[in-house]
Amino acid sequence: MKIIGIVSNEMTVDEGIFLGSKRTYINTDYIDMVLKAGAAPIMIPLATEEAVLKQIINNVDGIIITGGSDINPLRYNEGPLPLLGEVNDSRDEADIKILEMALKERKGILGICRGCQIINVYFGGTLFQDISYCNNKNIFKHIQSNFRGNPSHGISIDENSFLYKVLGSRALVNSFHHQSIKDIGNNLRVTAVADDGVVEGIEGLTDELVIGVQWHPEMMKEIESMILLLKMFIEKL
Ligand code: MN
Repeated sequence: MKIIGIVSNEMTVDEGIFLGSKRTYINTDYIDMVLKAGAAPIMIPLATEEAVLKQIINNVDGIIITGGSDINPLRYNEGPLPLLGEVNDSRDEADIKILEMALKERKGILGICRGCQIINVYFGGTLFQDISYCNNKNIFKHIQSNFRGNPSHGISIDENSFLYKVLGSRALVNSFHHQSIKDIGNNLRVTAVADDGVVEGIEGLTDELVIGVQWHPEMMKEIESMILLLKMFIEKL
């Protein structure tokens, strides 16, 4: 059985006897989805020491870079604009090191939401610090108000892509992001776009092991095609 490492997040405990202490966590949806796809999930802590990461990454077949807070715009040479959300420099640091190591060790990488954005930034791309900063006046609401597992907007998918093999040319996806990809990074290509033009899927230009999606397939775990996305990612590893 293949092992999928899931990158964790960090929060500060805001109640109870451990008030103020840090807690490392991953949302259970990721674990459930990896289990549904027939692989073994393990959590990757926010470690940055090379020897530690090497040991962890050598022991997994692929990694999921999860959602989370905004990426510090200094990572793509921009100053913070007023609508930038919360940033977490230690998560940024860990993600970058994990990506670097995973690429070096030829492990599959699936970036989800923030994970998709950090892949883009890693390869030299940029982000809209808030979707409203793009020039399109007819932009959708990309933070949906309905149940997280329900679809919110349509996407069109490029024919020659991994996402096309899984979902075909059209899909309905959920949406929980206030930022989006601006300039695509080097050695990456856009493979899925929302009906308002927002980038929703990216893949390695030549590297089949690099995939990023802006939506949350792990929250749509009742929908067969989203389970298939994870299954087909895992099959490649
Ligand atoms: Mn969206």
